[in-house]
Amino acid sequence: MASREGAAKAPPKGGAPARAAAKATPKPKAAKGPAKAAKAAKAAKAGKAGTKTSTKALPKPGPAKRRLASKVMEAFDRLYPEPECGLEARDPFGLLVATILSAQCTDARVNQVAPVLLKAYPGPEEMGKAPAGKLEGLIKSCGFFRMKAKNIRAASEAIVSRFGGRVPRTLEELVTLPGVGRKTANCVMGNAFGLPGITVDTHLGRISRRLGLSSNHDPVKVEQDLMALIPEERWTRFSHQGIAHGRTYCKSQKPLCKECPLDFCPHPLAG
Ligand code: SF4
Repeated sequence: MASREGAAKAPPKGGAPARAAAKATPKPKAAKGPAKAAKAAKAAKAGKAGTKTSTKALPKPGPAKRRLASKVMEAFDRLYPEPECGLEARDPFGLLVATILSAQCTDARVNQVAPVLLKAYPGPEEMGKAPAGKLEGLIKSCGFFRMKAKNIRAASEAIVSRFGGRVPRTLEELVTLPGVGRKTANCVMGNAFGLPGITVDTHLGRISRRLGLSSNHDPVKVEQDLMALIPEERWTRFSHQGIAHGRTYCKSQKPLCKECPLDFCPHPLAG
């Protein structure tokens, strides 16, 4: 399965294609307490979770910004025609686990660790009953292993107790799982279920601001800005492409503007 925010075939300059994948950057979220989770699940069931953004509530970008977004999409399609995810997973549960593990960890490392973990505990039933020490030992090299182990176990228990052992498919339900925020939820939706989702990680947030597609720093607001500009059927693809571009050219500290093919970029370092 193509998994999470993505690896994309990188563009030419500099030689070998770079494999780009969305990496979770914020520190892992602590597991929510049972009461909070139950409340969130109830709210989600009632459609009050506040996680789904109605298109009516989205910003209304002007024609200039729409033209800019079109140019970015065209350029991304040329540069990253077959974007895909960097995390390897065989099923939605595997992708969910891998995405939780990926916070502040490389995809390469997660791709080494997750298969071993999932071989020992292949589904939420088994994972939810895994001894904490054993689980922590298996994922130690991914960093933040205690928190991640706690979240993976709690999310697995919740999948069994509240969702019949199947990873839920909606944003509203996914974010009720311990350790799962919008970014992870969008990633699972887009890559495990083929449902549209914009996954704003540090790369996509940064390139969106530099390209002038968003002026926000809050990932939820960036997500909304992009939702208003990018056609829904392209959300997952655009996420992969943006992340690939952030990793290949638009690097955090020193963007490679002189080499970057996006010559229309308004960033001060460009041109
Ligand atoms: S020109 Fe520079 S700032 Fe603009 S997208 Fe390219 S690397 Fe990023």
